[in-house]
Amino acid sequence: MLSALKAEIQKMRSFIPASVRYGAPYRQKLKYLMESQFFGVERVREGQASDLRDLLRQAFLHTSHYRRMAQEIGCSWQDFRSPEDLRRLPVLARDTVRERQAEFLSDNIPESRRQKRFTGGTGGQPLGFVVERGRTDPLERAFVGRIWDWFGSRFEDPGVIFRGYAVDPADIRRGRFWGPWYPERNWACFSSYHMSGENLPAYAEQIRKLNPMFISCVASDLDPLARYWIEQKLAPLPRLRFIHQSGMLMHSDQRERFEKAFGARAFSTYGQSECTVFAGECEHNTELHVFPEYGVTEILRKDGGLADIEEVGEIVATGFNNYAMPLIRYRTGDLGAWSARGCACGRPFRLLSRLEGRGQYMIVLADGMVVGLNSILYGSHLPGLRMLKQVQVVQDKVGEILLMAVPTQEFNEDAGRALAAGLASVVEGRLVVHFRLVPEIPRVEGEKFKVLVQNLPVSWWTGYSGESPL
Ligand SMILES: [Zn+2]
Repeated sequence: MLSALKAEIQKMRSFIPASVRYGAPYRQKLKYLMESQFFGVERVREGQASDLRDLLRQAFLHTSHYRRMAQEIGCSWQDFRSPEDLRRLPVLARDTVRERQAEFLSDNIPESRRQKRFTGGTGGQPLGFVVERGRTDPLERAFVGRIWDWFGSRFEDPGVIFRGYAVDPADIRRGRFWGPWYPERNWACFSSYHMSGENLPAYAEQIRKLNPMFISCVASDLDPLARYWIEQKLAPLPRLRFIHQSGMLMHSDQRERFEKAFGARAFSTYGQSECTVFAGECEHNTELHVFPEYGVTEILRKDGGLADIEEVGEIVATGFNNYAMPLIRYRTGDLGAWSARGCACGRPFRLLSRLEGRGQYMIVLADGMVVGLNSILYGSHLPGLRMLKQVQVVQDKVGEILLMAVPTQEFNEDAGRALAAGLASVVEGRLVVHFRLVPEIPRVEGEKFKVLVQNLPVSWWTGYSGESPL
């Protein structure tokens, strides 16, 4: 009864325009962001330094963790004149946040304005944290709003969502694999858990009927539908402006498939539940533009030094949007490299030329070396991969992986053998690849699809921390 009432209120709220519903923080930030994208580099840096001082003031005065740190180091928030000054502070490990969460909570933000969040992912251990109710989400939306503006759509426009949502089981029984997604009245969310062959015609028909202006998705969730669309030679969606992918890495073959199937540009954004970093592609470029108004983003070597241009390191980030639980120089577990190039759009942002994904996408070779799964799987451009609908890799032993794959009709045993041999040769024989074809890869409802199930203790930062492989 109560939940029905809540749904009804949400539905009514959804008729209020986004600019009113998300409130002043959203409106002011979006207005600023629409202007700041045309500022020169120096002016953007000044704004960034000022936002950083405000964040440090909050953290140093109102959280016990950072108050103590400031005393130990002997610094005040006023000492931080440029984003580079942040390097005076140590990096922050996710485990520290997990173990000492209360010390990161701001004492001037009351319980009623603390919004609890969870993130799964890295290493399988979930992290609980807190964001600021009425401020963090509206600010986050403003950053997404700017990028949507680049591609020609707004929150009020009709759209469809594929993001691991579970739809009401009663609807599923009636063959409806979608439901409304409030607070946006024009959005429909589709179940990611029922996209098998027999249901796909119903998905396609409903989407054609909705005639969306955008698709928002996690790449792996949309992929089965894109393949179906192409196989059936369905016409592209006439009003579609873009396909916005986030939550994982989108590979070049997925991008091509989405654009071919639905007939609009597919782009990615990169961010995190912890709200420390945000980046997105623009109209001119598929490299991710890191947003300096969102926070300070660093790429560090294993020794803590700054990575060179085009050198892969860990992304360490400080976000400005969460005063309830400030995370400063937070180790994201993601790997990236700064691009040497600028972008034709002329906006004052640095680009990422590589994003290797989370630490948990690392696998251990026979000699104990840790490498990114994506660079092996997709950096190798093996033709056999294109004949697979979906893959999942499981690692239980050093130097061995199990590659489970759902094949397309064109796939055959020869292609399988060539693929396994090709993957092993990418890392000069330091990896044995067991290959298994499966009709489908089971998904856990409510969880993001995992490309890698890593059962070994691995991180890029510390390497393989299990028993010696030799
Ligand atoms: Zn650009």
